[in-house]
Amino acid sequence: MSEDSPSIIRVKNLTKSYGGFEALRGIDFEVQRGEVFGFLGPNGAGKTTAIRCMLDLIRPSSGSLLVAGHDPQRDPVAVRALCGYLPGELRLDENITVSNALSFFRQLRGGTTACHRRADVLSERLELDTTSKIKNLSKGNKQKIGIVSAFMHEPELLLLDEPTSGLDPLVQKTVMELVAEVQQEGATVFFSSHVLSEVQAVAGRVAIIRGGRIVEVSETSELSARGTVEVRVCFDGPVVFEKDQLAAFPGVKLITSDLAGRFMEFSVRGSMDGLVKCLAAYPVATLETRQCGLEEVFHAHYGKEQEKATNSPFQ
Ligand code: ATP
Repeated sequence: MSEDSPSIIRVKNLTKSYGGFEALRGIDFEVQRGEVFGFLGPNGAGKTTAIRCMLDLIRPSSGSLLVAGHDPQRDPVAVRALCGYLPGELRLDENITVSNALSFFRQLRGGTTACHRRADVLSERLELDTTSKIKNLSKGNKQKIGIVSAFMHEPELLLLDEPTSGLDPLVQKTVMELVAEVQQEGATVFFSSHVLSEVQAVAGRVAIIRGGRIVEVSETSELSARGTVEVRVCFDGPVVFEKDQLAAFPGVKLITSDLAGRFMEFSVRGSMDGLVKCLAAYPVATLETRQCGLEEVFHAHYGKEQEKATNSPFQ
């Protein structure tokens, strides 16, 4: 793979066994330069294992991997130099301050002025108190250190293992904004997640992994459009809705309504035209839609057992 190859990550038939247990069972995918790629999967699916192989933090049992043209096993330093990495579980020296930790990470990245400036900007943006000792920080605030350190040297490839884990919704939003911004500047972002809404919001493509196998690689928009759309309508005052009108439109179903007739929720598969025409007879105040395609595909791949075993991945 040459420097200007469109693929920045190429994974071929990668396997990883821990003793007799196969954590990765021959996965294949490619990530193109400049894309934001979401890596979705339930707990224990193999996401962290795959990311660690990319950085040669662990070694695959078989298969091949190229990161920006480098084989991580042969050239781990080159791979790590061009990547920004946020580990799933960040371990830090508890007795130093945030500022000391960031200074250490900056030195590892060459200690340039640009890196220093960017670390300051990121810390401020994430509202990270750099004077605190690490041991006094909450889980979310520790996670912010990992984010600053992954982004501060403006890497061409970011490998983020569940970047928003433990963060409050406002900080999650900031992190996703950062992802979108670095993509605008030309970087590639590969991130694992359980959170469908964030994958849907920023990833152009997504791979779903389950039980060490890739079960789907698709454009996020294609997955979103594949399933149903949920529509919530609020009316300007109570209405009496004639449900029979929906009978002519088989893809439209009423999910729920309030007794006072002020709001209704529908699911629509296929064209919205029928529902819009029915609603045109009523005084509509607001209409919200939510595409459920990715959610449905993810649920289908999770399967019932996984759903029971984990908390809801949908936020
Ligand atoms: P999560 O979303 O919970 O972080 P994940 O998709 O990142 O999960 P991995 O951490 O890659 O999953 O783990 C994949 C499987 O490999 C799991 O069943 C895990 O228990 C197992 N595993 C991971 N590391 C080891 C290890 N060092 N020794 C034995 N088994 C391991």
